[in-house]
Amino acid sequence: MQNKDVSADIIIVGCGPSGATLSLLLAQCGISSLVLEREKNIYPLPRAVHFDDQIMRVFQALGVSNALEGVVRYNPGMRFLDPQGNLLLDWPRPAGIGENGWHTSYRFHQPDLENILRNKMQSIECIQLQTGIEVDAIRQSEQHASVHCTNGDEYRAKYVVGCDGANSIVRSTIGNDIDDFGFNERWLVVDTLLNTEKPELGDYTIQHCGRDRPATYVRCPANRRRWEISLKPEDDTRTVTSDSSIWNFIGEWVSHHDASIERSAVYEFKSHVAKAWRKNRLFIAGDAAHLTPPFMGQGMCAGIRDASNLAWKLAICCREKQLPDITREAILDSYQSERIPNVTEYIETAIKLGAIINSCSTELALKKAFTRDDGTVQLKSMMPKLGSGVGVGSNACVGSWCIQPQLQSGTWLDDMARYKAILIIESQLLLEHLQSDATTEPDCLVITTQDEPELQSVLTHYSVDAILIRPDRYILGSATNSVELAELLNRASAICLA
Ligand SMILES: Cc1cc2nc3c(=O)[nH]c(=O)nc-3n(C[C@H](O)[C@H](O)[C@H](O)COP(=O)(O)OP(=O)(O)OC[C@H]3O[C@@H](n4cnc5c(N)ncnc54)[C@H](O)[C@@H]3O)c2cc1C
Repeated sequence: MQNKDVSADIIIVGCGPSGATLSLLLAQCGISSLVLEREKNIYPLPRAVHFDDQIMRVFQALGVSNALEGVVRYNPGMRFLDPQGNLLLDWPRPAGIGENGWHTSYRFHQPDLENILRNKMQSIECIQLQTGIEVDAIRQSEQHASVHCTNGDEYRAKYVVGCDGANSIVRSTIGNDIDDFGFNERWLVVDTLLNTEKPELGDYTIQHCGRDRPATYVRCPANRRRWEISLKPEDDTRTVTSDSSIWNFIGEWVSHHDASIERSAVYEFKSHVAKAWRKNRLFIAGDAAHLTPPFMGQGMCAGIRDASNLAWKLAICCREKQLPDITREAILDSYQSERIPNVTEYIETAIKLGAIINSCSTELALKKAFTRDDGTVQLKSMMPKLGSGVGVGSNACVGSWCIQPQLQSGTWLDDMARYKAILIIESQLLLEHLQSDATTEPDCLVITTQDEPELQSVLTHYSVDAILIRPDRYILGSATNSVELAELLNRASAICLA
């Protein structure tokens, strides 16, 4: 065995989208990471094709949104058709830029994203990426955590994060207990490349519901088009992935004269959440922590949200040597308690959507499943709150996602602070606070409504006079008077966030 004392603060096992994003966010906080990836090359089979505006904001923080804009496509929405092709339900997405400063939904090709993230990683000194290295054991002590690799190397760091996918070895070490939501289905996924224009296929995602074999059509960027076909228990994986079988499945929409098959795979779509995301110095994130049926295109998005929730917390615990144990524990435990309810809401909605696609639903059934108590149909972007964690106070906005306004200069809010906390505050309240309690002067980016009058709209949106936005863009807490503000800033300073 060769002990390698690399100087990284954090070891990340796995360099899929979750691991890559985590390393880049940690680097934004000045925290170094060693990323160990088993494969030499990026995963070649068809996977994610959708992410939303919350995720684009994370990519904005990483400084890769410009590169991504060159390879993504705005998604105009989803339509549900019955077996005869009649429209059951239309779920259009707004054509313009939404309240997050981006389109609400994007189509993309997962390898394009992973290449962009890896290129960025390679340009950053405090990230070491090693490919072709498989971790086969993980240990921890009070002082550090270590990984052992199949080539005999051993590495040590302050924390280890398993972003090592569905069969995570880090999860096995933490504990393999899961909450299973019961959705288990085999689907065939086929990516084709059109060699001719086929405008009749359309730009919407189409859910072909209630058929003998329910199917999804996805309009991907450039000439790539995807079909996902539900399989039956008797379908043999090798047979269904043969070219003749694939053309048979998708023949009603496209033929070998119009397109070539780029790649195909059979997946068993699962729905579960690991019960433990942390054990002392070990963590899991992404598919290692949860699996989501892909009907809402949210599996990878959830992994990116995990990374964004965890990175600033790990950074605080790596940086602040004098942090009391109790505070350190509270910060690190909040990762799981905040993330599980959030990801569970996506999984439950994806299962509901899957059931509808599979059933012979009428328009009425579809509307019933997605209608709120007030009678409105709920097919809109979800932005569930976080579970309880480090939030301060009882205002309804605590743990909610914060919108991103554009400032008078044209700059977007996040560009002022990338992956750092921001206090937006009504000018008079800040003045009062500084006069009464100079000891808790906020140590984060402070923007007053006098500096940036547009930000008044954010305060009005949440009916508050001050709001502290965490690096992951959820709301830590708010204030409507100087007493609440002092409490908010005291708490933020106690967890070293601001
Ligand atoms: C058909 C399909 C469609 C999907 N569509 C969408 C979508 O539209 N939108 C969306 O958000 N999500 C979607 N998903 C889900 C998305 O692809 C995954 O959630 C995402 O890839 C998970 O990223 P990850 O980084 O957590 O894990 P992975 O991408 O699985 O990466 C894990 C990495 O860890 C490495 N690794 C594993 N074990 C070890 C080890 N012991 N040592 C070292 N390295 C190791 C692996 O080689 C791998 O590179 C879809 C999935 C499928 C299958």
